[in-house]
Amino acid sequence: MKAERGTILPGSATIIRNGRIIDPANKRDEVGDLLIVDWKFAEGSQLSTKKSQPEEIDATNLIVAPGLIDMHVHLREPGFAQKETIASGARAAAAGGFTTIVCMPNTSPPADNPSTIAWIKDRAVETACVNVLPTGAISRNLSGEELAPIGLLAQAGVVAITDDGHCVQNNAVMRRAVEYARMVNLPVLDHCQDYNLVGNGVVHEGYWSTLLGLPGWPAAGEEAIVMRNILLAELCDHHIHCQHISSAGSVRLIREARARGVKISGEVCPHHIALTDEAVQNFDTNYKMNPPLRSQADADALLAGISDGTLSILASDHAPHADFEKEVEFDAAPFGVVGLETELGLFLDLLVHKHGKIGMMRLIEMYTVEPAKLLKIDAGTLSVGATADVTLIDPQLEWTVCAGEFQSASHNTPFDGWKLKGRAVRTIVGGKTVWKL
Ligand SMILES: [Zn+2]
Repeated sequence: MKAERGTILPGSATIIRNGRIIDPANKRDEVGDLLIVDWKFAEGSQLSTKKSQPEEIDATNLIVAPGLIDMHVHLREPGFAQKETIASGARAAAAGGFTTIVCMPNTSPPADNPSTIAWIKDRAVETACVNVLPTGAISRNLSGEELAPIGLLAQAGVVAITDDGHCVQNNAVMRRAVEYARMVNLPVLDHCQDYNLVGNGVVHEGYWSTLLGLPGWPAAGEEAIVMRNILLAELCDHHIHCQHISSAGSVRLIREARARGVKISGEVCPHHIALTDEAVQNFDTNYKMNPPLRSQADADALLAGISDGTLSILASDHAPHADFEKEVEFDAAPFGVVGLETELGLFLDLLVHKHGKIGMMRLIEMYTVEPAKLLKIDAGTLSVGATADVTLIDPQLEWTVCAGEFQSASHNTPFDGWKLKGRAVRTIVGGKTVWKL
């Protein structure tokens, strides 16, 4: 079905029957029924006051989870609608099982001012079938030089600040940003890349970069900024979240810092555990991302970091690019791959089924409670009274990724044709089904 949002009639009720309800916020894992009245989760007693017959959804053999949150998504509006619009990105999210997505500020114009934030929020209300929460930039024009008006961005309703796609290099500027963010109670998200160390690197610096003669992007280029962020989180006593962690050294640094109580966290994207830099030998630009695919030892360290809780959040870094942009030489192609429609399948397949690194409860927690807590948003729970955002997941469903069928306006994925086990089969936002397999 086509994903679209609409208002639901007051007085309407839905019962999701006989599913395995997994609600990490309430430590709940049991087979049962879930009731929605109007657009909120409700108790059985509320049903008797309703005149109309409730809609029934059979969830036998399905997992009933709180609506999943992806806190790292690039929607390309304003500025690059040929890659993705807020509407098409939201449809991709719904098809992937996501009811809330957090969009990055590297649009054109960049989201470094309140009017662009207002425009994104309006556009999302008008056109998106899922909840779209904007972030604001740390620095004006993502230049890393002059701070964006962080207080005004907070008032405009951003859920965090980040220069994602870019990285503030000047540590004093970053310190001021973290201090301002603390004052207005906004988390800071950071794309960790030391420009001097990385230079013009396009693939992981190691065996394959040497063999292929491609400029290397060393793991130390990420780790130097992760370390900087740990120091600033301590100095400013404020949370910094390191986006798309890719290297073993970063995992080690974050693990040590968290053990000391530092307010630091890290997220993982599926491509960094599903693939290694060996994949770049065919020069296919769908294997070019930033940070790059790394070694097997790095991928193993990410898995260990997920297992022991060092890395607490799963996200896609959904980065749509048009075919004509990706179909160029490796050096010249833009970084990034789409991910909203494959990430849940990949993480279920790899983390739960294949490697047994975490159970279903923790996987759902990393997509709901963890991002909701970090961003201080009211989502990610099936509690009575909460907005009825629900994802129905078939954990055993075997399916094949078909990029040609994506809802996203772009198809730049390295996973086309992959056979995966587990996917979302229905996505409900505010009590209304916005997507169904
Ligand atoms: Zn990034």
